[in-house]
Amino acid sequence: MEEKPLSILALGAHAADQELSAGMILAKYARAGHRVTILSLTPGEKGHPVLSAEDYKHQKIREAEACAAILGAETRVLGYRDAELPVNDAITFEVCDIIRELKPDILITHWERSIHKDHSNAHKIALDARFYAGLRRIERELPSHWINKVYYSENWEDMDGYEPDVYVDTSETFDQYCGALSQFELWDGGTGWPYADYYRSLARMRACLGFGKRAQYASTLARPKDAKVVRSPGLP
Ligand SMILES: [Zn+2]
Repeated sequence: MEEKPLSILALGAHAADQELSAGMILAKYARAGHRVTILSLTPGEKGHPVLSAEDYKHQKIREAEACAAILGAETRVLGYRDAELPVNDAITFEVCDIIRELKPDILITHWERSIHKDHSNAHKIALDARFYAGLRRIERELPSHWINKVYYSENWEDMDGYEPDVYVDTSETFDQYCGALSQFELWDGGTGWPYADYYRSLARMRACLGFGKRAQYASTLARPKDAKVVRSPGLP
């Protein structure tokens, strides 16, 4: 991995989204000395079968903090409402300012198509905020910053057209990831969906596909189409 410490921003719609889908990669980078920030646009407070949105919001924020501490990351949860995430300039500039503050080298966010509208909205907000943040002529308190690399993480709700083209061996951070995600009540099915079963199986399956017997666990990412263009005097 790179020598120079990188800043990595993982932007999810709800607290737990990027932790679930990119947590093993984030832990791997944090372990190597890079700065990792998980930004959730909403706490994701409406997904609990019993708790009120208000109570679950506080629980979810506490869980996100405990999870991030184990992953070696920082976490920020914005105050937008679950299922009502808007796409407008107010939120886009808010994220733009966070990008200018954190100066990420790498942005990890949702794939563009999802069964959850907050996820596809978060994708759009992330890319528009990257554009605003990078444009020198957009004057904000902090100077412009362009994020060089963008990746989309593998989330069970965002699989419409998702095709991974990066496989990362995450064997070394799998146990750490499971410990971190177990800070969320949802991990063990507490909110009615078997997250742990899905993401543990996915990590094993992706290792088989990407590495055969050479890795025990793996996570995937997809890159934007333009990042895959090869410019070379001959065949790559
Ligand atoms: Zn979500």
